[in-house]
Amino acid sequence: MPTYNFSAGPAVMPQPVVAQIQAELPSFHDSQMSIMEISHRSALFDQVINEAEQDLRDLMQIPDNYRVLFFQGGGTLQFTAAPLNLATKHHHIGLLDSGHWASRAADEAQRVNTTVDILGSGAANHFTALPYPEQPVDQQLDYVHLTTNNTIEGTMYTKLPETGRVPLVADMSSNFLGQPYNVRDFGMIFAGAQKNLGPAGLTIVIVRDDLLGHATNLPSMLDYQLFADKRSMFNTPPVFAIYAAGLVLKWLKAQGGLKAIANRNQQKAGLLYDFLDQSKLFTNPVKPADRSTMNVPFVTGDAAVDQAVIAGATEHGLLNLKGHRLVGGMRASLYNAMPQAGVQALVDYLENFEQHNK
Ligand code: PMP
Repeated sequence: MPTYNFSAGPAVMPQPVVAQIQAELPSFHDSQMSIMEISHRSALFDQVINEAEQDLRDLMQIPDNYRVLFFQGGGTLQFTAAPLNLATKHHHIGLLDSGHWASRAADEAQRVNTTVDILGSGAANHFTALPYPEQPVDQQLDYVHLTTNNTIEGTMYTKLPETGRVPLVADMSSNFLGQPYNVRDFGMIFAGAQKNLGPAGLTIVIVRDDLLGHATNLPSMLDYQLFADKRSMFNTPPVFAIYAAGLVLKWLKAQGGLKAIANRNQQKAGLLYDFLDQSKLFTNPVKPADRSTMNVPFVTGDAAVDQAVIAGATEHGLLNLKGHRLVGGMRASLYNAMPQAGVQALVDYLENFEQHNK
């Protein structure tokens, strides 16, 4: 029986990438050392990190005036690093309150003495629709924080908010590389790797040149300018995670790039949403235009039935469908590496469950 991993993260990786890691683990490029054992200052690793950066630049069409930084500390550390590096003039940012991870970002910004204005909130509709600024954005803000994909709530921005000259800072953790965005629409993008890019332990930061260099006396490990100057090698970077992410980037190129993968993601998600929308047992509460192609939460409305759905799914090789602890129910994460066959198997299982539980 094939198994399919619907975890929200760490999440499914492309099978050919895992096979390649296995094949070259004992001796990386004939070095007789595994990738975990080579120096980050070696020519071998130089090639790994340079190719990863170039492949990412190619895939996302990152303009030359943006730096690509390889960080650790997850998306969460960027909730602190972004205000420390970029909120230097007014110590005042705007934020779209689109759910749990957006409010975590607001909390962390406040901890480093940044004032946070909530420009719009989805709280009134339980985050089933995306908030946009309710008024023209104050041009005296250092930036506006946006969570492009809300991993728990299952919403995703395709239409970006208007912010005038105020840069957008995007937490793309859960839809990074799932579809094309125009990098020029953002002052900065960050994403933890462990959903759509590779193993946990790596966080990508893409930041526009002119936003760097305004902060002083930052702790070194939080300093974008320093990381840019040192080409992400101020200290030992997460070598294995960067290597694995590099393989995923090559796999993505071989899939035809971001437009092609976005089409496939639309089809996969469409399969599940179409089923949920006609079902009399399962519902997804999100406004159709705001639905995520990456994370699809759904419920039956009865916690005991939800539990039975999850237990039965596990028996059928459909793994990690339990919803986030804050919202319960089920959640299917359909990242790039989830094959269409996995989504079809899930829909078949849910259909069958419904027929037998009328
Ligand atoms: N932002 C979003 C949108 C997320 O989904 C997550 C993790 N689920 C985070 C931030 C936090 O990421 P990390 O655990 O890498 O710090």
